[in-house]
Amino acid sequence: VSVEQVIEADWTWIGGAFTRNIRVAVDANGRIAQVGALAAPPTVRFPGKALLPGIINVHSHAFQRGLRGLGEAFPHGAGTFWTWREAMYRLVDAMDAEALYRLSHQAFREMLACGITTVGEFHYLHHAAGSWGFEFDEVVLRAARDAGIRIVLLNCYYKTGGIGKPLTGGQLRFDGVSVLAFWRQMEHIATRLDPATQSLGVAPHSIRAVGIDDIVALRRESRKRGMVFHIHVEEQQREVAECRAAYGQSPMVLLTDRLEIDETVTAIHCTHTDSSDMSAFVGAGGQVCLCPLTEGNLGDGIPDLTGIRAAGGRICVGTDSNARLCMTEDLRWMEYGQRLKTQTRGRCVDAAGSAANALWEIATINGARSLGLTAGRIEAGCWADFVVLDLAAPSLAGWMPETLLDAFIFGTGESVIAATCVGGNFVPSQ
Ligand SMILES: [Zn+2]
Repeated sequence: VSVEQVIEADWTWIGGAFTRNIRVAVDANGRIAQVGALAAPPTVRFPGKALLPGIINVHSHAFQRGLRGLGEAFPHGAGTFWTWREAMYRLVDAMDAEALYRLSHQAFREMLACGITTVGEFHYLHHAAGSWGFEFDEVVLRAARDAGIRIVLLNCYYKTGGIGKPLTGGQLRFDGVSVLAFWRQMEHIATRLDPATQSLGVAPHSIRAVGIDDIVALRRESRKRGMVFHIHVEEQQREVAECRAAYGQSPMVLLTDRLEIDETVTAIHCTHTDSSDMSAFVGAGGQVCLCPLTEGNLGDGIPDLTGIRAAGGRICVGTDSNARLCMTEDLRWMEYGQRLKTQTRGRCVDAAGSAANALWEIATINGARSLGLTAGRIEAGCWADFVVLDLAAPSLAGWMPETLLDAFIFGTGESVIAATCVGGNFVPSQ
């Protein structure tokens, strides 16, 4: 495949450090062909900028962008996740294809503006009102393509309104119909994907929304088809209690017992997961996606991040409800939540003690692994997905090469992002 572009910024993030005089050759398929001190002259030059791998947002519900600013007043006293969910269902009730497109496109554009180049869209709002036709699946894919973001559509199977209970109200829009109908729809969508930027994964919503036998069947099929498998796990204590009452086990133990767990399985949240249950899951290769800003906004609780990492677990990050889209903010709150809980600093660090490097690995390399993508590094063979940092941005003033990543993650937001690039196509920041 021929080289289409040669990109050169002042500094490039490779091998865990910013390095000078690096050129990145990108081929016609949108993948990185070569990285290093290449002889080929640059076709795209970024003076005063730094080039990093694009951020990978493992968990999003794009349409929930429509709730921003709503549900933040509490005239009847303290709210909970469950009162927030009522507001989300009201949004669902009012949703048509046009509104879903507009909100998804808005969310995806905001993601690009804060450096996110891939979204794992955990998509459960399948149907128009009164329909069982899954017509909204392609609306989300179209919004992603028009926005210019890479998407892994984690198509969601949703069948019960609580363990063993029928769907009611707004939940009817989420109906997976049957495992068979779901896979028929997956095969239909597969023919509509842009192979350069779109792929599929499987996502039974949660133990609340899918019976365990269906979850087992979906997992078996996901392995057969080589698809990643994502599921919400233990975000709320009520879910743990209801699962114990119905199955005699916590969700995490039930899933670890009944499913084949490996690195293609990602559990979302795990806010209330017991540490020994967690050890069994991550010991088998399972990964955990945390969503700090959403978990904070919903009052879920603080996960045992240090325990997950100590057990060898790989963590990735998601923007979930998209109440705020700023990935550096999500990343620093991953560390700050632990600091507040333990009254110590440096809870999420790499072997050399760097919090920024550990958080950046979470946002890039680990995210790519969770979504089954060759991405997250500036390395030959990876997708040519990049973030371009503006080194002259006021909030970065005082940066040095060895502190730049720390300054970016702990001190800045979307204003330092000069551009993003997905599959070799640059998207200027808004
Ligand atoms: Zn979620």
